[in-house]
Amino acid sequence: MHEVYESTRNRDRKITSKQAIFEGISPDGGLYVWPELAQVQLDLTTICKQSYQENAVYILHHLLPDFTKEELEQCVANAYGNTFSSPDITPLRKVGDVYVLELFHGPTSAFKDVALTLLPQLMSVALRSAHQKALILTATSGDTGKAALAGFQDVKDTGIVVFYPDHKVSQVQYRQMVTQRGKNVKVYGVKGNFDDAQSKVKELFLDPDLREVAAKYHVRLTSANSINIGRLVPQIVYYFEAYKQLVNQGVIQLGDKISYSVPTGNFGDVLAGYYGYLMGLPVEKFYVASNANHVLTDFLTTGIYDRNREFIQTISPSMDILISSNLERLLYYVSNCDADFVKGCMDELAQTGKYQIPADLLKKIQSLFDCGYIDDVQTKAVIGKTYQETNEILDPHSAIGYEIGKAAKERPMVTLATASPYKFAQDVLDAIGVKEADPMQAMKKLEDYAHEKTPKGLAELNDLPILHKDVISIDDMKQDVANYIEELFHD
Ligand SMILES: *Cc1c(COP(=O)(O)O)cnc(C)c1O
Repeated sequence: MHEVYESTRNRDRKITSKQAIFEGISPDGGLYVWPELAQVQLDLTTICKQSYQENAVYILHHLLPDFTKEELEQCVANAYGNTFSSPDITPLRKVGDVYVLELFHGPTSAFKDVALTLLPQLMSVALRSAHQKALILTATSGDTGKAALAGFQDVKDTGIVVFYPDHKVSQVQYRQMVTQRGKNVKVYGVKGNFDDAQSKVKELFLDPDLREVAAKYHVRLTSANSINIGRLVPQIVYYFEAYKQLVNQGVIQLGDKISYSVPTGNFGDVLAGYYGYLMGLPVEKFYVASNANHVLTDFLTTGIYDRNREFIQTISPSMDILISSNLERLLYYVSNCDADFVKGCMDELAQTGKYQIPADLLKKIQSLFDCGYIDDVQTKAVIGKTYQETNEILDPHSAIGYEIGKAAKERPMVTLATASPYKFAQDVLDAIGVKEADPMQAMKKLEDYAHEKTPKGLAELNDLPILHKDVISIDDMKQDVANYIEELFHD
C-alpha cells in the first residue's frame, strides 16, 4: 500500500518512496513522481504554529509514507540540529518592498544545503531497510557538488563521486570541492560543460557494465541531483516556512495568496514550490528567473523548449543550464499524469534538442508560472543599485530572482536567495564598484559592506590542502567510477 511512486514515463511499475530515494532515477529514464500528490492536503493552521523542524517532519511524513515518524524525526534532527547558522534555518527578511528568503545559512553557504543535509539521512534509512549500499554519482554546475560531498561525508554504507566542469565553476566553488575530506568521497574535473557531465551521469546510471560491477558489492548507483525525490521533498518545507512567517508577522491572513520568485537552473527549487501549491500552499504566481541561458523564459513564453543554442558562461554559474531536468515533473502533473506525452517530449528532446507542448497546456502552465531573465551586465547593475538603495548585498543568483520579483506586479512577493554573497565575492564587489583580484582577499573586503561576516566554511578554504586534482574526459568517467567502486566497497 506504500507503493505510491512511479516513473514520469511509464505508469506500470509502482515503488515505495524509500526505493525511489535510493534508485534516484527510473530505469526507463523517467523521474519518480507520486501521481496522487494533489490529494495530499496540508493544514496551514498547524504549519503556522510549528517550528521549522516540526514542519519538516510533518511535510515529509505526508510525502514519504513508508518512513516512520520516528525515522523522520531522527533524520530531521541530524540534518537541522546545529548545522545551520540561523535558528530559523531559512530566515525571511524584508528588503525594499519584497521579502527575501535566505536559503544559504547551511554548512556550505548554498541553498542546496537545505536538501543535501537531509537527503543522506533519508538515503541511509532507506538503504538500511533494503540491506543495500549506495554510490552517489553527481554532476554539478558548482554548488550541488560541495553540498552533496559535505552531506555524504563518512555516512555509513555510502560513497560519493562528484563531477564538475573544469574551469566552469567559481574559484571558491572549486576550492570548496577539491579540499573535501572524507573516506568515501571522490571529486573529478571533467573536460566539458555541466550539461555534458550531467548527460553522461544519467547514462552511467543505466550502464549495464557499471551496474554489474556495483551489483557485485550490493551497491546501488544513485543520484544526489535534484532529480532525486529525496532532494525535492525537503525544499517544499521552506515555501511553507516563508508563508508561515508572513502570517505570523501579520503581513497576510491565513489563506491569502502570495507569490514567489525563484532563481532557476535545473527547475528543482521552483518545482518544490509547485509541489507545495499542489498540497495546499496558497500561491498567486511563481516567477521563474533565469540568466542569459534563458531556455525556460522562452519555453514559458512560447511553449517551445529548445536547447539548441549557445551555452553562455555567466556570473551565476549554478543557473547555467540548458536542460532543466525537473521540468519533466511539471509536464507530468499539468498533463494529468500522461506518461506517454511526457515520454514523447523527452524522446524528442534527446533526439532533436527540442519539443513543443500544445497551446492549451502552455496556457495552463502560464496561469501559475510567469518568467523573466537578466544578463550579467544587468545582474551587476541590480547588485549595485540594491546596495545603494537598501544596504543589502545580494549574490548574483539571488539578484536575478530579486530583480524579476521586484519587477512583477504581485505582492506580497517572496524572492529566494540561493547563495551567500561571499561565495561570489569578486563579482559582488565589482558590482558595487570595488576591484579585488584575489578571491580570498575579496571575501575579507566584502565584510566592510555586508552585514554578516564570512561564513566559517569559506573563511578557512585558503588553509586547506587540495586533495582532489584529477581532470578527466567525459569518456573516462565510466572507467573511473568502476575503479572507485572496487576501491571503496571491496571488503
Ligand atoms: C542550484 C542553484 C540554483 C538553481 O536551482 P535549481 O533547483 O537547479 O533550479 C540557483 N542558485 C544557486 C546558488 C544554486 O546553487
